[in-house]
Amino acid sequence: MKKGLLLIISGPAGSGKGTVLARMLAGRDDFAYSVSMTTRDPRPGEVDGVNYHFVSHEEFDRLVAEDGLLEYTRYVGNGYGTPRAQAEEVLASGRHLILEIEVDGAMQVKEKFPEAVAIMLLPPSFAVQEARLRGRGTETESKILERLDQTRREVPLVDRYDYIVRNEDGGAEQAAADILAIVRAEQLKSARDPRAAQRYFAD
Ligand code: 5GP
Repeated sequence: MKKGLLLIISGPAGSGKGTVLARMLAGRDDFAYSVSMTTRDPRPGEVDGVNYHFVSHEEFDRLVAEDGLLEYTRYVGNGYGTPRAQAEEVLASGRHLILEIEVDGAMQVKEKFPEAVAIMLLPPSFAVQEARLRGRGTETESKILERLDQTRREVPLVDRYDYIVRNEDGGAEQAAADILAIVRAEQLKSARDPRAAQRYFAD
């Protein structure tokens, strides 16, 4: 059985990661979305265990101490991390695992798993991102400013990613198709099939 891909998707707040991933994953069972732990409060409509595992700061710190997180970071005052057990289970099953995480966590994963494929999803511009973030209306002004500040730190690190995908206005479908094209190309890499020649002659 072929191993699944470890796919990292990062993108600044308001890049449309949620929408693009929902399009991409609809009706597919060869992908699993890693449900992160976070200490932040749920936004309206978010469901515990689906969007995130919402935990207290104490619980989060306990998991960190137990090495229960594959990677973690502190972002805008809250802890975010990838539960290790779930990630290992998915990869062992041959499905592709999607980690929707920020840049610091992405670099930790790349260090531990150099074969991971890192994709940065970008809005058309910083100005469009800001407008989307304000339009979403889910954050206070100070949280919006913190997220924009975070963007100024994160986007310059885009050169550490393997791919950049743009999410134009109304372009979620195209962005989802672009990510699936990357997945397909990565699956077809010769490095992922080191015994191809041997099998060719044996069959
Ligand atoms: P939000 O609060 O908007 O849901 O997420 C804030 C940021 O944290 C986003 O960039 C999101 O991708 C990132 N994030 C979500 N889960 C994780 C995680 O498990 N680990 C890391 N490092 N970042 C995460």
